Amino acid sequence: MVLLDSPQTAALSSLLTSPVDLDSRSPNQQLLPLTACLNDRDHLEIGGCDVVDLVAQFGSPLYILDEQTLRVGAQQYQQAMQRYYPGSAQVIYASKAWNCLATCAIVTSEGFGIDVASGGELYTALQAGVSGEKIYFHGNNKSLPELEFAIAAGCTVVADNWLELERLAELAPASGNSPRVMLRITPGIECHTHEYIRTGHLDSKFGFDPNQISALLDFAVQHSQVNWVGFHAHIGSQIFELQPHQDLAGVLADWLAAAIAAGLPMNELNVGGGLGIRYVESDQPPSITDWVKVVAESIAAACQDRGLPLPKLICEPGRSLIGPACVTAYTIGGHKEVPGIRTYVAVDGGMSDNPRPITYQSAYRAVVGNRMAAPVSQTVTVAGKHCESGDILLKDAQLPVTEPGDILVVMTTGAYNYSMASNYNRLTRPAAVLVHSGEANLILKRETYQDLVKNDLLPERLV
Ligand SMILES: *Cc1c(COP(=O)(O)O)cnc(C)c1O
Repeated sequence: MVLLDSPQTAALSSLLTSPVDLDSRSPNQQLLPLTACLNDRDHLEIGGCDVVDLVAQFGSPLYILDEQTLRVGAQQYQQAMQRYYPGSAQVIYASKAWNCLATCAIVTSEGFGIDVASGGELYTALQAGVSGEKIYFHGNNKSLPELEFAIAAGCTVVADNWLELERLAELAPASGNSPRVMLRITPGIECHTHEYIRTGHLDSKFGFDPNQISALLDFAVQHSQVNWVGFHAHIGSQIFELQPHQDLAGVLADWLAAAIAAGLPMNELNVGGGLGIRYVESDQPPSITDWVKVVAESIAAACQDRGLPLPKLICEPGRSLIGPACVTAYTIGGHKEVPGIRTYVAVDGGMSDNPRPITYQSAYRAVVGNRMAAPVSQTVTVAGKHCESGDILLKDAQLPVTEPGDILVVMTTGAYNYSMASNYNRLTRPAAVLVHSGEANLILKRETYQDLVKNDLLPERLV
Protein backbone atom coordinates (compact mmCIF):
# COMPACT_ATOMS: atom_id res chain seq x y z
CA MET A 1 0.00 0.00 0.00
CA VAL A 2 1.45 3.35 -1.00
CA LEU A 3 0.61 6.98 -0.56
CA LEU A 4 -1.19 8.79 -3.26
CA ASP A 5 1.50 10.16 -5.50
CA SER A 6 0.35 8.55 -8.71
CA PRO A 7 0.33 10.69 -11.88
CA GLN A 8 -3.39 11.31 -11.44
CA THR A 9 -2.93 12.65 -7.96
CA ALA A 10 0.53 14.19 -8.18
CA ALA A 11 -1.04 17.61 -8.39
CA LEU A 12 -3.00 17.03 -5.23
CA SER A 13 -0.20 18.11 -2.96
CA SER A 14 -2.36 17.89 0.12
CA LEU A 15 -2.49 14.13 -0.30
CA LEU A 16 1.22 13.66 0.04
CA THR A 17 1.42 14.10 3.79
CA SER A 18 2.40 11.10 5.80
CA PRO A 19 -0.44 8.99 7.24
CA VAL A 20 1.27 9.35 10.61
CA ASP A 21 -0.21 12.79 11.04
CA LEU A 22 -3.61 11.74 9.73
CA ASP A 23 -5.41 13.22 12.70
CA SER A 24 -3.70 16.58 12.43
CA ARG A 25 -4.84 17.25 8.89
CA SER A 26 -8.03 19.27 8.65
CA PRO A 27 -10.42 17.18 6.52
CA ASN A 28 -11.94 20.31 4.91
CA GLN A 29 -8.52 21.17 3.42
CA GLN A 30 -8.19 17.79 1.66
CA LEU A 31 -9.54 16.70 -1.70
CA LEU A 32 -9.82 13.04 -0.72
CA PRO A 33 -10.85 11.41 2.58
CA LEU A 34 -7.96 11.13 5.07
CA THR A 35 -7.62 7.36 4.63
CA ALA A 36 -7.30 7.50 0.82
CA CYS A 37 -4.33 5.58 -0.55
CA LEU A 38 -3.23 3.54 -3.52
CA ASN A 39 -3.12 -0.24 -3.17
CA ASP A 40 -0.90 -2.77 -4.94
CA ARG A 41 -3.59 -3.40 -7.55
CA ASP A 42 -3.21 0.23 -8.67
CA HIS A 43 -6.65 1.01 -7.26
CA LEU A 44 -7.84 3.78 -5.00
CA GLU A 45 -8.54 2.58 -1.48
CA ILE A 46 -10.66 4.40 1.09
CA GLY A 47 -11.16 3.30 4.69
CA GLY A 48 -9.12 0.20 3.86
CA CYS A 49 -11.56 -0.79 1.09
CA ASP A 50 -10.75 -1.00 -2.61
CA VAL A 51 -13.22 1.25 -4.45
CA VAL A 52 -13.36 -1.16 -7.41
CA ASP A 53 -14.34 -4.02 -5.08
CA LEU A 54 -16.93 -1.79 -3.39
CA VAL A 55 -18.58 -1.06 -6.74
CA ALA A 56 -18.49 -4.76 -7.63
CA GLN A 57 -20.19 -5.61 -4.34
CA PHE A 58 -22.64 -2.72 -3.88
CA GLY A 59 -23.23 -1.48 -7.43
CA SER A 60 -22.79 1.83 -9.21
CA PRO A 61 -23.07 4.74 -8.66
CA LEU A 62 -22.05 4.42 -5.03
CA TYR A 63 -21.55 6.95 -2.25
CA ILE A 64 -18.53 5.88 -0.16
CA LEU A 65 -18.43 7.51 3.28
CA ASP A 66 -15.19 7.32 5.25
CA GLU A 67 -15.97 7.05 8.96
CA GLN A 68 -12.52 8.13 10.09
CA THR A 69 -12.58 11.39 8.15
CA LEU A 70 -15.98 12.23 9.62
CA ARG A 71 -14.84 11.41 13.16
CA VAL A 72 -11.53 13.28 12.86
CA GLY A 73 -13.36 16.39 11.65
CA ALA A 74 -15.86 16.09 14.49
CA GLN A 75 -13.06 15.68 17.03
CA GLN A 76 -11.23 18.71 15.66
CA TYR A 77 -14.36 20.82 16.17
CA GLN A 78 -14.77 19.50 19.73
CA GLN A 79 -11.13 19.87 20.75
CA ALA A 80 -10.80 23.37 19.31
CA MET A 81 -13.99 24.45 21.06
CA GLN A 82 -12.65 23.16 24.38
CA ARG A 83 -9.29 24.79 23.86
CA TYR A 84 -10.41 28.22 22.66
CA TYR A 85 -13.76 28.87 24.32
CA PRO A 86 -13.63 29.45 28.07
CA GLY A 87 -17.41 28.99 28.56
CA SER A 88 -19.77 26.11 27.87
CA ALA A 89 -20.25 25.14 24.26
CA GLN A 90 -22.11 22.73 22.00
CA VAL A 91 -21.19 21.83 18.44
CA ILE A 92 -24.15 20.63 16.40
CA TYR A 93 -24.22 18.99 12.98
CA ALA A 94 -26.26 20.81 10.34
CA SER A 95 -27.81 17.58 9.17
CA LYS A 96 -29.38 18.94 6.01
CA ALA A 97 -25.93 18.41 4.46
CA TRP A 98 -26.55 14.64 4.73
CA ASN A 99 -29.29 13.47 7.05
CA CYS A 100 -29.62 9.72 7.52
CA LEU A 101 -29.52 7.35 10.50
CA ALA A 102 -25.81 6.57 10.21
CA THR A 103 -24.58 10.17 9.85
CA CYS A 104 -26.72 11.31 12.79
CA ALA A 105 -25.52 8.38 14.93
CA ILE A 106 -21.82 8.93 14.18
CA VAL A 107 -21.74 12.65 14.95
CA THR A 108 -23.85 12.15 18.07
CA SER A 109 -21.39 9.56 19.32
CA GLU A 110 -18.74 12.31 19.03
CA GLY A 111 -20.77 14.49 21.40
CA PHE A 112 -22.46 16.60 18.73
CA GLY A 113 -26.03 17.84 18.78
CA ILE A 114 -28.07 17.89 15.55
CA ASP A 115 -29.65 20.75 13.63
CA VAL A 116 -32.74 19.79 11.66
CA ALA A 117 -34.85 21.85 9.28
CA SER A 118 -37.99 19.74 8.83
CA GLY A 119 -40.16 17.17 10.54
CA GLY A 120 -38.51 14.52 8.38
CA GLU A 121 -35.00 15.44 9.46
CA LEU A 122 -36.18 15.56 13.09
CA TYR A 123 -37.80 12.14 12.76
CA THR A 124 -34.59 10.68 11.33
CA ALA A 125 -32.43 12.18 14.10
CA LEU A 126 -34.77 10.78 16.78
CA GLN A 127 -34.78 7.36 15.08
CA ALA A 128 -30.97 7.49 15.15
CA GLY A 129 -31.18 7.77 18.93
CA VAL A 130 -30.42 11.48 19.30
CA SER A 131 -32.08 12.97 22.36
CA GLY A 132 -34.40 15.94 21.82
CA GLU A 133 -32.40 18.22 24.15
CA LYS A 134 -29.55 18.11 21.65
CA ILE A 135 -31.69 18.92 18.61
CA TYR A 136 -32.20 22.43 17.19
CA PHE A 137 -35.15 22.90 14.84
CA HIS A 138 -34.67 25.45 12.02
CA GLY A 139 -36.65 26.58 9.02
CA ASN A 140 -38.34 29.69 7.68
CA ASN A 141 -41.80 28.12 7.43
CA LYS A 142 -42.24 25.44 10.06
CA SER A 143 -45.77 24.03 9.96
CA LEU A 144 -47.92 23.81 13.07
CA PRO A 145 -47.49 20.00 13.22
CA GLU A 146 -43.72 20.46 12.90
CA LEU A 147 -43.68 22.94 15.80
CA GLU A 148 -45.78 20.55 17.91
CA PHE A 149 -43.46 17.67 17.02
CA ALA A 150 -40.37 19.71 17.92
CA ILE A 151 -41.79 20.85 21.26
CA ALA A 152 -43.01 17.37 22.18
CA ALA A 153 -39.54 15.98 21.41
CA GLY A 154 -37.93 18.58 23.68
CA CYS A 155 -36.01 20.35 20.90
CA THR A 156 -34.84 23.92 20.88
CA VAL A 157 -36.86 25.80 18.27
CA VAL A 158 -35.00 28.47 16.30
CA ALA A 159 -37.83 30.90 15.57
CA ASP A 160 -37.71 32.61 12.23
CA ASN A 161 -40.77 34.88 11.96
CA TRP A 162 -43.75 36.44 13.78
CA LEU A 163 -46.24 33.73 12.86
CA GLU A 164 -43.98 31.20 14.56
CA LEU A 165 -43.59 33.34 17.66
CA GLU A 166 -47.35 33.62 18.03
CA ARG A 167 -47.78 29.88 17.55
CA LEU A 168 -44.99 29.10 20.02
CA ALA A 169 -46.56 31.42 22.61
CA GLU A 170 -49.88 29.61 22.13
CA LEU A 171 -48.40 26.11 22.23
CA ALA A 172 -46.17 26.75 25.26
CA PRO A 173 -48.75 26.42 28.08
CA ALA A 174 -50.34 23.31 26.52
CA SER A 175 -46.97 21.60 26.22
CA GLY A 176 -46.61 21.49 30.01
CA ASN A 177 -43.06 22.81 29.98
CA SER A 178 -41.71 26.00 28.48
CA PRO A 179 -40.19 25.26 25.09
CA ARG A 180 -36.64 26.50 24.53
CA VAL A 181 -36.62 29.10 21.77
CA MET A 182 -33.81 30.97 20.02
CA LEU A 183 -34.45 33.97 17.81
CA ARG A 184 -32.89 33.87 14.36
CA ILE A 185 -31.89 37.30 13.12
CA THR A 186 -30.50 38.30 9.74
CA PRO A 187 -27.14 39.77 10.68
CA GLY A 188 -26.63 41.96 7.60
CA ILE A 189 -23.19 40.59 6.82
CA GLU A 190 -22.08 40.05 3.24
CA CYS A 191 -19.60 37.40 2.30
CA HIS A 192 -18.12 36.37 -1.01
CA THR A 193 -19.81 33.09 -1.60
CA HIS A 194 -22.26 32.04 -4.30
CA GLU A 195 -25.30 34.30 -4.31
CA TYR A 196 -27.72 31.41 -3.74
CA ILE A 197 -26.04 30.34 -0.54
CA ARG A 198 -25.74 33.76 1.07
CA THR A 199 -28.13 34.08 3.95
CA GLY A 200 -26.65 36.76 6.18
CA HIS A 201 -27.24 39.84 4.04
CA LEU A 202 -30.41 41.75 4.80
CA ASP A 203 -32.45 40.71 1.75
CA SER A 204 -32.81 37.11 2.86
CA LYS A 205 -35.86 34.93 3.42
CA PHE A 206 -34.35 33.71 6.71
CA GLY A 207 -34.73 35.31 10.11
CA PHE A 208 -36.01 38.54 11.60
CA ASP A 209 -34.84 41.85 10.26
CA PRO A 210 -32.47 43.37 12.85
CA ASN A 211 -34.45 46.62 13.01
CA GLN A 212 -37.19 44.61 14.72
CA ILE A 213 -35.05 43.74 17.69
CA SER A 214 -36.88 45.93 20.19
CA ALA A 215 -40.29 44.67 19.06
CA LEU A 216 -38.98 41.11 19.41
CA LEU A 217 -37.67 41.73 22.89
CA ASP A 218 -41.01 43.32 23.92
CA PHE A 219 -42.81 40.23 22.66
CA ALA A 220 -40.44 37.94 24.56
CA VAL A 221 -40.86 39.91 27.80
CA GLN A 222 -44.65 39.64 27.46
CA HIS A 223 -44.57 35.87 26.82
CA SER A 224 -42.64 34.40 29.71
CA GLN A 225 -44.32 31.02 29.23
CA VAL A 226 -41.62 30.52 26.56
CA ASN A 227 -38.01 29.86 27.59
CA TRP A 228 -36.18 32.45 25.45
CA VAL A 229 -32.61 31.15 25.44
CA GLY A 230 -30.72 33.31 22.97
CA PHE A 231 -29.98 34.32 19.39
CA HIS A 232 -29.04 32.55 16.20
CA ALA A 233 -27.50 33.82 12.98
CA HIS A 234 -26.06 32.01 9.96
CA ILE A 235 -24.13 34.04 7.41
CA GLY A 236 -23.90 31.59 4.52
CA SER A 237 -22.05 28.56 3.25
CA GLN A 238 -18.74 27.59 1.59
CA ILE A 239 -17.05 30.63 3.18
CA PHE A 240 -13.25 30.92 3.11
CA GLU A 241 -12.97 34.25 4.93
CA LEU A 242 -12.72 34.55 8.70
CA GLN A 243 -13.59 38.26 8.96
CA PRO A 244 -17.38 37.82 8.48
CA HIS A 245 -17.42 35.45 11.48
CA GLN A 246 -15.56 38.03 13.57
CA ASP A 247 -18.04 40.71 12.51
CA LEU A 248 -20.91 38.41 13.41
CA ALA A 249 -19.64 38.06 16.99
CA GLY A 250 -20.09 41.80 17.58
CA VAL A 251 -23.61 41.77 16.12
CA LEU A 252 -24.67 38.78 18.25
CA ALA A 253 -23.18 40.27 21.41
CA ASP A 254 -25.08 43.52 20.79
CA TRP A 255 -28.36 41.63 20.58
CA LEU A 256 -27.56 39.66 23.71
CA ALA A 257 -26.75 42.89 25.57
CA ALA A 258 -30.09 44.35 24.46
CA ALA A 259 -31.96 41.25 25.65
CA ILE A 260 -30.28 41.27 29.05
CA ALA A 261 -30.98 45.00 29.38
CA ALA A 262 -34.65 44.23 28.65
CA GLY A 263 -34.64 41.80 31.58
CA LEU A 264 -34.58 38.56 29.57
CA PRO A 265 -32.28 35.90 31.05
CA MET A 266 -30.83 34.87 27.66
CA ASN A 267 -27.43 33.21 27.65
CA GLU A 268 -26.89 31.28 24.38
CA LEU A 269 -25.46 32.38 21.04
CA ASN A 270 -25.58 30.22 17.94
CA VAL A 271 -23.21 31.38 15.17
CA GLY A 272 -24.44 28.98 12.47
CA GLY A 273 -22.07 27.12 10.14
CA GLY A 274 -20.48 28.05 6.87
CA LEU A 275 -16.84 26.92 6.87
CA GLY A 276 -15.85 26.09 3.29
CA ILE A 277 -14.12 23.00 1.94
CA ARG A 278 -11.62 22.24 -0.79
CA TYR A 279 -13.42 21.00 -3.91
CA VAL A 280 -10.58 21.87 -6.30
CA GLU A 281 -6.88 22.67 -5.83
CA SER A 282 -7.42 26.43 -5.91
CA ASP A 283 -9.81 26.36 -2.93
CA GLN A 284 -7.97 27.41 0.25
CA PRO A 285 -10.32 27.25 3.22
CA PRO A 286 -9.04 27.83 6.77
CA SER A 287 -8.71 24.72 8.91
CA ILE A 288 -11.47 23.60 11.28
CA THR A 289 -9.25 24.51 14.25
CA ASP A 290 -8.51 28.02 12.93
CA TRP A 291 -12.19 28.63 12.21
CA VAL A 292 -13.28 27.57 15.70
CA LYS A 293 -10.47 29.62 17.26
CA VAL A 294 -11.61 32.80 15.50
CA VAL A 295 -15.28 32.18 16.25
CA ALA A 296 -14.67 31.32 19.92
CA GLU A 297 -12.21 34.11 20.60
CA SER A 298 -14.30 36.76 18.90
CA ILE A 299 -17.48 35.76 20.76
CA ALA A 300 -15.59 35.74 24.07
CA ALA A 301 -13.99 39.13 23.32
CA ALA A 302 -17.24 40.73 22.11
CA CYS A 303 -19.06 39.62 25.28
CA GLN A 304 -16.23 40.76 27.56
CA ASP A 305 -16.17 44.17 25.82
CA ARG A 306 -19.85 44.61 26.62
CA GLY A 307 -19.53 43.36 30.18
CA LEU A 308 -21.69 40.28 29.47
CA PRO A 309 -21.23 36.92 31.17
CA LEU A 310 -19.95 34.31 28.70
CA PRO A 311 -22.91 32.76 26.89
CA LYS A 312 -23.15 29.12 25.89
CA LEU A 313 -21.64 29.06 22.39
CA ILE A 314 -23.19 26.90 19.69
CA CYS A 315 -21.94 26.39 16.14
CA GLU A 316 -23.47 24.32 13.36
CA PRO A 317 -21.07 22.94 10.77
CA GLY A 318 -22.56 20.91 7.92
CA ARG A 319 -20.47 20.88 4.75
CA SER A 320 -17.04 21.07 6.43
CA LEU A 321 -17.81 17.96 8.46
CA ILE A 322 -19.46 15.62 5.98
CA GLY A 323 -18.35 17.01 2.58
CA PRO A 324 -14.74 15.77 2.55
CA ALA A 325 -15.63 12.39 4.10
CA CYS A 326 -17.35 11.01 1.00
CA VAL A 327 -16.61 10.24 -2.63
CA THR A 328 -18.98 9.02 -5.34
CA ALA A 329 -17.89 6.15 -7.57
CA TYR A 330 -19.47 6.00 -11.04
CA THR A 331 -19.02 3.61 -13.93
CA ILE A 332 -17.90 5.18 -17.18
CA GLY A 333 -20.02 4.47 -20.26
CA GLY A 334 -19.71 5.89 -23.75
CA HIS A 335 -17.94 8.98 -24.95
CA LYS A 336 -18.55 11.56 -27.64
CA GLU A 337 -15.96 13.68 -29.39
CA VAL A 338 -16.94 17.06 -30.75
CA PRO A 339 -13.91 17.73 -32.99
CA GLY A 340 -11.95 20.78 -31.96
CA ILE A 341 -14.33 21.51 -29.10
CA ARG A 342 -14.47 18.84 -26.42
CA THR A 343 -14.81 15.19 -25.51
CA TYR A 344 -17.72 14.10 -23.40
CA VAL A 345 -17.34 11.06 -21.15
CA ALA A 346 -20.64 9.79 -19.76
CA VAL A 347 -21.23 8.22 -16.34
CA ASP A 348 -24.14 6.26 -14.90
CA GLY A 349 -25.41 9.03 -12.57
CA GLY A 350 -25.50 12.80 -12.67
CA MET A 351 -27.71 15.61 -11.46
CA SER A 352 -29.99 13.18 -9.61
CA ASP A 353 -27.21 12.06 -7.24
CA ASN A 354 -25.23 15.34 -7.32
CA PRO A 355 -27.35 18.38 -8.15
CA ARG A 356 -24.68 20.90 -7.11
CA PRO A 357 -23.01 21.44 -10.51
CA ILE A 358 -26.30 22.20 -12.27
CA THR A 359 -27.64 24.24 -9.34
CA TYR A 360 -24.57 26.22 -8.27
CA GLN A 361 -22.06 25.65 -11.12
CA SER A 362 -19.95 23.83 -8.51
CA ALA A 363 -16.59 22.41 -9.56
CA TYR A 364 -15.29 18.97 -8.56
CA ARG A 365 -12.16 16.85 -8.99
CA ALA A 366 -12.10 13.21 -10.07
CA VAL A 367 -9.71 10.32 -10.66
CA VAL A 368 -10.03 7.00 -12.46
CA GLY A 369 -10.02 4.74 -9.42
CA ASN A 370 -9.12 1.49 -11.15
CA ARG A 371 -6.01 2.85 -12.95
CA MET A 372 -4.44 5.30 -10.55
CA ALA A 373 -0.95 5.07 -12.08
CA ALA A 374 -2.13 5.81 -15.63
CA PRO A 375 -0.75 9.10 -16.96
CA VAL A 376 -3.12 12.00 -17.22
CA SER A 377 -3.48 12.55 -20.94
CA GLN A 378 -6.76 14.27 -21.74
CA THR A 379 -9.14 17.02 -20.70
CA VAL A 380 -12.73 15.82 -20.85
CA THR A 381 -16.20 16.92 -19.84
CA VAL A 382 -17.89 14.36 -17.59
CA ALA A 383 -21.59 14.18 -18.44
CA GLY A 384 -24.40 12.70 -16.39
CA LYS A 385 -27.05 10.52 -18.00
CA HIS A 386 -30.07 12.80 -17.53
CA CYS A 387 -32.17 14.39 -20.26
CA GLU A 388 -30.81 17.84 -19.56
CA SER A 389 -27.94 19.47 -21.47
CA GLY A 390 -26.78 21.12 -18.25
CA ASP A 391 -26.31 17.73 -16.58
CA ILE A 392 -22.52 18.02 -16.56
CA LEU A 393 -20.72 16.77 -13.44
CA LEU A 394 -17.22 18.05 -14.26
CA LYS A 395 -15.97 20.52 -16.82
CA ASP A 396 -12.36 20.14 -17.95
CA ALA A 397 -11.54 17.06 -15.92
CA GLN A 398 -7.89 15.99 -16.32
CA LEU A 399 -8.01 12.23 -16.76
CA PRO A 400 -6.09 9.33 -18.25
CA VAL A 401 -7.52 7.69 -21.35
CA THR A 402 -10.73 6.05 -20.13
CA GLU A 403 -12.61 2.98 -21.25
CA PRO A 404 -16.18 1.90 -20.69
CA GLY A 405 -16.34 0.13 -17.36
CA ASP A 406 -13.69 2.29 -15.68
CA ILE A 407 -14.55 3.60 -12.23
CA LEU A 408 -14.63 7.38 -12.00
CA VAL A 409 -14.28 8.62 -8.43
CA VAL A 410 -15.59 12.14 -7.81
CA MET A 411 -14.27 13.66 -4.57
CA THR A 412 -15.84 15.67 -1.74
CA THR A 413 -19.42 14.61 -2.41
CA GLY A 414 -20.59 14.17 1.18
CA ALA A 415 -22.44 17.45 1.55
CA TYR A 416 -25.63 18.37 -0.29
CA ASN A 417 -25.37 15.39 -2.66
CA TYR A 418 -27.43 12.53 -1.21
CA SER A 419 -29.51 15.04 0.75
CA MET A 420 -30.47 16.87 -2.44
CA ALA A 421 -30.75 13.75 -4.59
CA SER A 422 -33.85 13.16 -6.69
CA ASN A 423 -35.37 10.49 -8.88
CA TYR A 424 -35.26 12.64 -12.00
CA ASN A 425 -35.74 10.46 -15.09
CA ARG A 426 -36.77 7.84 -12.56
CA LEU A 427 -33.22 6.94 -11.76
CA THR A 428 -33.01 4.99 -8.54
CA ARG A 429 -31.07 6.74 -5.79
CA PRO A 430 -27.62 5.17 -5.26
CA ALA A 431 -26.60 3.10 -2.29
CA ALA A 432 -24.19 4.46 0.33
CA VAL A 433 -21.56 2.46 2.21
CA LEU A 434 -19.70 3.40 5.36
CA VAL A 435 -16.08 2.27 5.21
CA HIS A 436 -13.77 1.79 8.18
CA SER A 437 -10.60 -0.31 8.65
CA GLY A 438 -11.32 -2.54 5.68
CA GLU A 439 -14.98 -3.08 6.58
CA ALA A 440 -17.86 -1.77 4.48
CA ASN A 441 -21.39 -1.43 5.86
CA LEU A 442 -24.38 -0.51 3.76
CA ILE A 443 -25.99 2.60 5.29
CA LEU A 444 -28.45 3.41 2.51
CA LYS A 445 -29.89 0.72 0.28
CA ARG A 446 -29.95 1.33 -3.45
CA GLU A 447 -33.50 2.10 -4.53
CA THR A 448 -35.23 -0.41 -6.72
CA TYR A 449 -37.70 0.00 -9.58
CA GLN A 450 -40.36 -1.20 -7.12
CA ASP A 451 -39.44 1.70 -4.82
CA LEU A 452 -40.06 4.07 -7.70
CA VAL A 453 -43.69 3.04 -8.09
CA LYS A 454 -44.48 2.27 -4.46
CA ASN A 455 -46.39 5.53 -3.97
CA ASP A 456 -47.94 5.58 -7.44
CA LEU A 457 -51.65 4.85 -7.64
CA LEU A 458 -53.56 3.86 -10.71
CA PRO A 459 -57.21 4.95 -10.47
CA GLU A 460 -59.58 2.07 -11.26
CA ARG A 461 -61.01 3.73 -14.38
CA LEU A 462 -57.55 3.89 -16.02
CA VAL A 463 -56.94 0.18 -15.74
C1 LIG B 1 -27.08 25.16 6.13
C2 LIG B 1 -26.99 25.67 7.49
C3 LIG B 1 -25.88 25.40 8.28
C4 LIG B 1 -24.69 24.64 7.78
O1 LIG B 1 -24.02 25.32 6.80
P1 LIG B 1 -22.66 24.67 6.21
O2 LIG B 1 -22.19 25.69 5.26
O3 LIG B 1 -23.03 23.40 5.55
O4 LIG B 1 -21.73 24.49 7.36
C5 LIG B 1 -25.90 25.83 9.59
N1 LIG B 1 -26.94 26.51 10.10
C6 LIG B 1 -28.03 26.82 9.36
C7 LIG B 1 -29.15 27.55 9.96
C8 LIG B 1 -28.08 26.41 8.04
O5 LIG B 1 -29.17 26.73 7.32
